[in-house]
Amino acid sequence: MPMAPAPKEIAERLAALARACHARGWALGSSGNFSAVAGRDPLRLAITPSGVDKGRLAAAEIVEIDGTGRQVAGSGRPSAETALHLTVVRARGAGAVCHTHSLWSTLLSERCAAGGGLAIEGLEMLKGLSGVASHRHREWLPVIDNDQDWERAAPGVERMLAEQPALHGFLIRGHGLYTWGRDLDEAQRHLEVLEFLIELLARRGGADAVREGPWPS
Ligand SMILES: [Zn+2]
Repeated sequence: MPMAPAPKEIAERLAALARACHARGWALGSSGNFSAVAGRDPLRLAITPSGVDKGRLAAAEIVEIDGTGRQVAGSGRPSAETALHLTVVRARGAGAVCHTHSLWSTLLSERCAAGGGLAIEGLEMLKGLSGVASHRHREWLPVIDNDQDWERAAPGVERMLAEQPALHGFLIRGHGLYTWGRDLDEAQRHLEVLEFLIELLARRGGADAVREGPWPS
């Protein structure tokens, strides 16, 4: 029997977000994934399908998974990075997760990998991140290694998120950005803010532009 589609309103918003990110060059081809919690008890996550061009993604193609990653609705195949979305939702209590493969995040993730990440400070745009009230805030964006088996790598990501509760996102080396929010509105805002800041730092270029290494506590 064919599976029921994911909840309509969430599916429409996820598909529209994916198409908008494709249009901005942040999720070209079938790259990137977007998800939103459709139910908490039991956990249900609506997520973009694997292998579908984000520029043409339709709401009907959004799939729904349970807390173990098992598909419970929708006809597409869940993303290969489903395990990371579930990890962020659990570790952060997030209501939505955005993952992009922008040129600038890919470039900066490689440039900053040796230092474990990059710090961003002194920029007004930082105030778009939840809980940040001043441009003097120092935002730490860790870089983790890329992996093709996120089921296996997810526990390490979960540990990092537990150990660094102030994070708003992280980069995967040579791959892209993950960020999240309490709902889709906040996740989208964090995505726009972080993509702006990442592009700014990457365009500045040079060793001075990116302060590497974890911040002193
Ligand atoms: Zn990816």
